[in-house]
Amino acid sequence: MASLPKLVDKSNIDSFLAGIDNVMTDCDGVLWRLDELVEGADTVLNNLRKLGKKIFYVTNNSTKSRETLVQKCESLGFIADKGEAISTSYIIAQHLKQINFTKKVYVMGTTGLTSELDLENIKYTGPGPDPVPENIFDLEKIIVLDPEVGCVVIGFDQHFNITKIMKAASYLINTECIFLATNRDERFPLRRTDLNFPGTGTFVNAVETASGRKAESVGKPSPKMFTVLQEKFNLDPSRTIMIGDRCSTDIMLGKNCGLQTLGVLTGINSLKDYESWAASDDPELWKLLPDYYIPSFRRFGPIITKLSFLKLVCS
Ligand SMILES: [Mg+2]
Repeated sequence: MASLPKLVDKSNIDSFLAGIDNVMTDCDGVLWRLDELVEGADTVLNNLRKLGKKIFYVTNNSTKSRETLVQKCESLGFIADKGEAISTSYIIAQHLKQINFTKKVYVMGTTGLTSELDLENIKYTGPGPDPVPENIFDLEKIIVLDPEVGCVVIGFDQHFNITKIMKAASYLINTECIFLATNRDERFPLRRTDLNFPGTGTFVNAVETASGRKAESVGKPSPKMFTVLQEKFNLDPSRTIMIGDRCSTDIMLGKNCGLQTLGVLTGINSLKDYESWAASDDPELWKLLPDYYIPSFRRFGPIITKLSFLKLVCS
């Protein structure tokens, strides 16, 4: 048995906010669902900023470069700038730069990923549609491998197919070829409960199975997503909170880096999940439990708005 996360409400909002200087927030499932704003999230984030908290937008979604992430934030009403946005596509480019990678990357992904590689002058091949022949066995005759490729990166790829799996798995026969994944997210949060929208983890699993190799994932819960920000902004982990809907990534990132954690129930995990993890005898499941939770930013908004108004008036 473990304790359930504490609900943040009017009774403890003051002490909750007093313990935080920096807010790292996941995006999909917390601030928006696909292209739809989670009602009230913009008010909450913008008011936390007015209260002097540093805000960072952190996403495993590799279809976004930092620039497109900021554009999406702004289009939905959030104040944001490029320095406050961290996406896995950025982390991949930074990682390759740090290891002085000079070969070419085989990219399974979109322009979100390639535009970050472009900024670091890293060469790549592979994005976009790659046709599947009528006779699948023709792939053996058709595929030409690029001898310059020294790294395979798997991100979200709407053109994912067997041709791409075969190319990626073939490059990985060379054990010196680096194998990276932007993240292992299983699904995207949707409003419809009768659909499963596959996440990048689905694609990573396919290439891992076909190649017999294991990718290194740079996305949450990998500490890389925090350490890049920590170095840049000198953040104190104990005064930083990680907010997220998916406990296996968002909350685990917080736990892995010694941050405070806040679960929001507008995306992947529910209060029932928290209850079943807390009631279990498995300490591994207890690790998924955030320190605090709120049902949604919609109900949190009025508390913060009132408080920030009072603080602004008094200051
Ligand atoms: Mg999420």
